Amino acid sequence: MSPDFAQTERMMFQLSLRRRGISDQAVLKAMDDVPRDQFVRSSDLSQAWRDTALGIACGQTISQPFVVAYMTEQLQLRSSDRVLEIGTGSGYQAAILARLVRSVLSIERFKLLADSARARLEKLEFHNVEVMVGDGYAVPPNLGEFDRIIVTAAMPEIPASLRARLGEGGILIAPIGPAAGTQKLVRVTRSGGRDISKELLDVRFVPALSGLAREL
Ligand code: SAH
Repeated sequence: MSPDFAQTERMMFQLSLRRRGISDQAVLKAMDDVPRDQFVRSSDLSQAWRDTALGIACGQTISQPFVVAYMTEQLQLRSSDRVLEIGTGSGYQAAILARLVRSVLSIERFKLLADSARARLEKLEFHNVEVMVGDGYAVPPNLGEFDRIIVTAAMPEIPASLRARLGEGGILIAPIGPAAGTQKLVRVTRSGGRDISKELLDVRFVPALSGLAREL
C-alpha cells in the first residue's frame, strides 16, 4: 500500500466514524492512534481501515470499528478508571480502552487468542493492559470491582457473577440476546446501589460460550 493511499484510508476511517455519530474527541483520537492493521490477519491488511468486522483465529472476529468506538463512547470513561473487558479476541478493543483509562484487564476463553493479543499489545507498548485466560461467565470475585465493564461477545443475559464485579457509579455495556441473529447493546448504570438499564443499538456479536475453550 502506498503511503498516500494509507493516509487516505485512515482519513476515510475517521470520517466514517464521525458521520455515524461518534463525537467524543478522545475516543476519535484513540481510534486514530491505535493501528488496526496490527490487529488483523495479514491477508486482511487491505481491509484493516474499513468499517467492517473481520475474521481472526479460532473462528472469532475483530469487531467493526464503529461498534468499538460507539461502545467506548457509551462507557463514558474517565482517565482514572479500571476497566474489565470480556472477550479479548485480537486485543483491539482493549488497546482503544487502554489509551483512555488507567488500566484494562481483558479476559479471553481461547489461550491462543489471549497469548497472541498479549504479545501484540506488549509489542505495541500498551503497558496498562493485562490479558488473562478465563471465562466471562465466571469472573472470580478476587479480581475486585471495576469502574467499567465491557462485554464483546453476545450473552443471553448479564450473569450475576459479572454484575457483582461492577462498582458503585459503574457502567457495564454488553450485547444481550440470542447467539444467532442480532442482539441489543445494553448499558447498565449503577447509581445509589440501583442498576438502570438502557437499550442502545442492535448489534451482531459472536456468542459468549461458557468455560475455557478446549481446543487451545
Ligand atoms: N474485543 C475483540 C473482539 C471480540 S470477539 C477485539 O477487539 O478483537 C469475541 C471474543 O470473546 C472471542 O475472542 C471469544 O473467544 C471470546 N469469548 C467468548 N466467550 C467468552 C467467555 N465466556 N469468556 C471470555 N471470552 C469469551
